[in-house]
Order: sequence, then structure tokens, then C-alpha cells
Amino acid sequence: MPAGLSLKTRLTLWSLCFLTLVLGGGGFFWYYSQQQQLYARLDAELLSTARDFVCQYNGIDPSISEQQAYCQTLNQLSMRQGGQLAISLYSAAGNHLCSNNHPHIQLLRSPEQSQAATTAGLNAYASLNAGETRLRQLTYPVIKNGNIILLLQLASPLASLDEQLVLFALLLVCVVALTLICFTVLQWFLLGKLLTPLKRLASQFQETDEDALVPCVVPATSPAEVRLLADSYNHLSERFNRNLQRARQFSADVTHELRTPLTILRGETELALRKDKSKEELQRVLSSNLEEIGRMSHLIEDLLLLSKSELGEVPLQMEALDLGSLLEELYCQAQILGTEKQIKIEKSGSDEQISLFADGLRLRQLFLNLLSNAIKYTPDEGRVKISWTLQDGSALVSIKDSGIGIDSAHQPHIFDRFYRIDKTRNRGDGGSGLGLSIAKWIVDAHGGSIQVISVPGQGSCFTVTLPVTHLLKDQKKNKVSK
Ligand code: ADP
Repeated sequence: MPAGLSLKTRLTLWSLCFLTLVLGGGGFFWYYSQQQQLYARLDAELLSTARDFVCQYNGIDPSISEQQAYCQTLNQLSMRQGGQLAISLYSAAGNHLCSNNHPHIQLLRSPEQSQAATTAGLNAYASLNAGETRLRQLTYPVIKNGNIILLLQLASPLASLDEQLVLFALLLVCVVALTLICFTVLQWFLLGKLLTPLKRLASQFQETDEDALVPCVVPATSPAEVRLLADSYNHLSERFNRNLQRARQFSADVTHELRTPLTILRGETELALRKDKSKEELQRVLSSNLEEIGRMSHLIEDLLLLSKSELGEVPLQMEALDLGSLLEELYCQAQILGTEKQIKIEKSGSDEQISLFADGLRLRQLFLNLLSNAIKYTPDEGRVKISWTLQDGSALVSIKDSGIGIDSAHQPHIFDRFYRIDKTRNRGDGGSGLGLSIAKWIVDAHGGSIQVISVPGQGSCFTVTLPVTHLLKDQKKNKVSK
């Protein structure tokens, strides 16, 4: 089928081909069985005529000669048939005895040609073609006392039978053609009706705004498939629009995040150049600039890590590690971080040794992000507690603080990139709103999950669940006994 044809044309052509095959095959079969029936009927008529001959011959006047008796019977038979049949009579040896006056009598095939069947005492049928004349011939052996005494030949012209068959064939062709035409018109019309909602839908798809995909509306009476397609498109466009919005937001955030420190850098440098500055003042400006540059590099590194992680380009260096030892180390580091704000760092580790197959550096980054957040968002002299345990074959690490907490409206968004609840406050702390996005990526990459429970004014608790590979049940009592 040529490419570029519409669905409507394709469907119509396919079904037309199929229907032509079915109707053609069916019509041919019907014609063939009709032909067989007509021939069988004609053969039966010829046979009954031949049997009539035998009956009549047996009832003939015994005073006349045998030759006369045969011919008399033959003539009587011919008269009774109204001269429609060509009839010839032969002796058992094949010698011609007599015939009637039928115009096609010359066309009959001599009995020798059907010898094989007739000598066996069987009726032999044959279809004869002589130019435009066609005949159906029966050679009938007349048997008396088990011996063939005569061979009777009867032939009927096939003209009227052929005529009937031609008429029948014509009728069939007309019916098939008419059915195909009606079917094609009807199908074309129905397909057109059926595909109209699809066309309407396609034109709605094309009405796409430059900034976003416009959802389409289909009438409730549309076919289920069309409504399904519209629903899928709307779902897809919703996701696409959301992603587009996020991408726009992301690039706006990146621009903003980089522009602010650059403006500060530029302002401070310009100010320093404007008048003579003492060495100390210049040193102060330079170290402040260095801090700002450090923040920018940190931000760019985080961004690079996140975009690489999305492309799957950050390979994890998986190794067997002991979660307890890693968290003990981080606990010590957190104590140093919390010193300035006099935050009390507590820990509560599991008795069991928890072995993970994980990337040690990434896990360190994950827990350090959570710990530094906990310290950052907890007021002076607050408390941060790190605990770990095994639960249902998974390692559970929670970092709980007595900080400012997170309002429930913000909780679903804190893992989004650049999401910061109080933007002004975090800038001073160097927060860019990427820490929790990175934490979430690390947890996901390890097949785990991260959750937050928080009450504003009371504190937050971040819980990380990681799958455990090896469980070495090293009970505390064993340690004690040593
Ligand atoms: P940031 O670098 O700004 O801390 P994060 O991605 O780490 O970015 O955190 C996103 C936001 O979630 C923060 O801006 C902060 O408002 C909030 N947040 C994170 N951790 C805590 C916490 N322990 N207590 C209160 N708020 C938190």
C-alpha cells in the first residue's frame, strides 16, 4: 500500500480487499456447486430415459424382428422426449443399429471411446464440445441375463444449462459488485464519522501555545478511545508544562544565584578601587571576595553534580562499609560544627553492626548535609540528635533537631532545587537550596528513601532508610564479655 495514504483510505482498501476475497471465493464456490447440481440433474434425467428404454423394449411385440423392435422402441422413446435428445443404439459389439433424427446425432461419440466403462457394465457420462455446440452424453449398457446385449447412447444439448449458468454467474457478479459498492460507501461514511473527533483533537493539538501546551477538551459523547487519547495528551501536557516551568524556574534561579554574588564582588571591588585604601582594608575586601568566590564555586559544583546525576553520569564507588563507624565519625565532626552555637550533639547507635554496600563519600555528604542543616536551623544552645538502628532489614538513620521546624506547607517542596523557605536568612549562611536535593539524589541512588517530620517552633526530624546488604549480628553482650 502506498505510503502517505490516510487511515480512512487504508482501512477502506484493506476491508475492500478482504471482502472481495471472501465474496469472490464464496461466489465461486456457490457457482461451482450450482453447476454440479445442474449436471447431476441432467445426468439423472438421461439415466431415467435410458431405463425407460429398457422397460419399453421388454414390453415390445415379440412377433416383429429384433432389429425392428430396437428401432421401434428408440423412436417411441424419442417421440416421448419431444425429439430433444439425440439417441443412438449399438449392438454389444459396437455396431450401429439405429438412431433418431436429431440434428446433433452426428456429434455423438462412438461407444468404443467409452468402452472401458461400458464393458464393465457401468454407465459412462461425457461432455462433448463441437464448436459452439456442447452435449452431455450417456452411454448406457443394456444388460440381460448378466450379459450386455445393447449399448444405448443418449445426448442432451447443454445450451439451456449453460444459459442458466451464465445467468447465475451474472447474478452473482452483480450481487458481489453491489455488495462491495454499498459496503465501501457505508464504510467510508462511517469511518469519516468515527475519525472526525480524532481530526478535531489533532487540530486542538496544533493550537499549542508557544509557552505551554494547551489542554484539549473533547465532548463527553466522543468514543472512549478518543477520550482516552485526550486524557493521555492532557496528562502529558500537564507534566510537560510542569517540567517546562521547573526548567524556567531553574534557569532563573541559577541566574539569580550567580548574579547576586557577582554583584557583591563587583561592588566591593569597585569601592576598593575608588579611593586609596589601607592595606588592612584591601585585605578585608579581598578575603570577603574570596568567601563569595568560594560560595559561587560551591554552588557551581552542586549544580554540576545534580545535572550530572540526572544524566546518570555520576558513578557511585560502591563498597562494603560499616554504617556505625561512619556515623560516629560524623558525630565528632558535628560536635565541632555545633561548638560556635553551643549546640549539644547527641547520638544513639544500634547495638548491631550495620554493614552497607554503598558509596562512602556520598553517604558522608548526605549525612553531613542533614547535620549541618540541623545545626544551621537550630538556635543557640539547642540540641541535635543522631540515631541509627535496624528495622525490618533496613538501616534507619534519623537526625533530629530542636530548631525552628518547617511549616507543613513547605515540607513537600524542601527537596526541590533552590527551594529555600527564608531566602534572606539562608544567603548569610551560604545556603543555596541545593543541599536537600543532593541528599535526596544520594538516597535514591542507593535505593533508599528520605522523610521529614517537622513541627514549626519545635524542631525537625529527617529519617533516611537504606537497604542493608550484610547483617553481622554483633551483639553488645559479646563486646561486653570481651
Ligand atoms: P539550604 O542550603 O538553603 O539549607 P537545603 O536544600 O539544604 O538548602 O534546604 C532547603 C530548605 O529547607 C532550607 O532553606 C530550609 O528552609 C529548610 N530546612 C532544611 N533543613 C531544615 C531543618 N533541619 N530545620 C528547618 N528547616 C530546614
